[in-house]
Amino acid sequence: LYVRFMLTIPPIHKRQALLMAVGGLIPLLGRIALDGFGLNLIPQLDEVILFFLASALIFGVALFRFSLLAIMPVAYSQVFQSMGIGVVVLDPQTQLLEMNPAAKKLIGVGPLGLLGTPLKRLWPQLGDLNLEAENVTDRAFPGEEGSLRHYRIRVTLIRNRWNRLLGYLLLLTDITQQKKDAAALELLATRDGLTGLFNRRTFMTLAAQEYQRALRYHHSFAVILFDLDEFKQINDTYGHLCGDEVLQEVARRCQERLRSVDLLGRYGGEEFVILLPETGQSDAEAVAEKIRSVIGSTPIQLEEVPISIAVTISVGGIVFTPDDQEAMPSFDTIFSRADEMMYASKKAGRNCITMWPAAS
Ligand code: GH3
Ligand code: MG
Ligand code: MG
Repeated sequence: LYVRFMLTIPPIHKRQALLMAVGGLIPLLGRIALDGFGLNLIPQLDEVILFFLASALIFGVALFRFSLLAIMPVAYSQVFQSMGIGVVVLDPQTQLLEMNPAAKKLIGVGPLGLLGTPLKRLWPQLGDLNLEAENVTDRAFPGEEGSLRHYRIRVTLIRNRWNRLLGYLLLLTDITQQKKDAAALELLATRDGLTGLFNRRTFMTLAAQEYQRALRYHHSFAVILFDLDEFKQINDTYGHLCGDEVLQEVARRCQERLRSVDLLGRYGGEEFVILLPETGQSDAEAVAEKIRSVIGSTPIQLEEVPISIAVTISVGGIVFTPDDQEAMPSFDTIFSRADEMMYASKKAGRNCITMWPAAS
């Protein structure tokens, strides 16, 4: 048994296991020496007593000096008590057998044991937890401070070697920070930092999906693209920071006038793009005019300095219907036509709208 123990335990315990093995062997070896070789160290005394004494001393050293038996349970208990992950052990009837302080804190129960309480009563939010098989689910509950916290719950079925169910192990990890980080990263990756609108890449991805949807369901959609007129001059006159504020206000004004299904993106420095799903020619023209006038008709009042800046936009627009698929086989081709229309508006003297002639 000791030899097997030595082979399986971590290296730091091998010395203790060796001591136990040696201690266990001494009486046996002594007996062999006495009987096999006729050894007789002290007449009138059964030397086996001495061998057992030596054996006991060695066991004593192994047990007390190296704390062989005590250290592992203590270590396990320390880990269990101090780990940040909540651990809950349930019996096959889903009644509580054991939980560590982290789990108690999560569930919000006092230090007094609630042993035997069914999970449903202990923690109603987890009443419908899937315990049929090993699984991982994410749940959110209000935390101690009242704000929502997110948890990843890993369910493990505990079985004996004959596959009989002994109970369940629930591991609860707080993933609130992870969720926050992921959301912040997604925001950084998909949104423009200045205006909060979709960045060019995200807009183009979403627009390509809308293109496919329009073909599939035989809908039309409109694209409106605009560029601020003489924006360089605004920067030169008022400074870059004022220019930034103008861009933010332009974004806000657009957003307020659009539906929640419309896509709005900043695709360049002072260039914006709008996709209007399921929109035909006359509606597209009306939205383009609304956007042009909402930006151009009222000067933009800056927040920090008492300055208001008048700004106009040049707009290009196009309505795509699935019949145009041959001429415009991708969203990019639609986009470049809208861009051409926007430049036509610049050429026509700015602060105006040019629409691609309706194909049908
Ligand atoms: P046009 O009417 O022909 O469009 O003239 P414009 O001056 O607007 O066009 P141009 O492309 O020459 O200049 C665009 C300017 O937009 C240049 C650049 O400094 C400014 N710009 C681009 N991105 C930003 C930004 O994020 N903040 C600020 N403040 N200015 C920007
Ligand atoms: Mg410009
Ligand atoms: Mg430009």
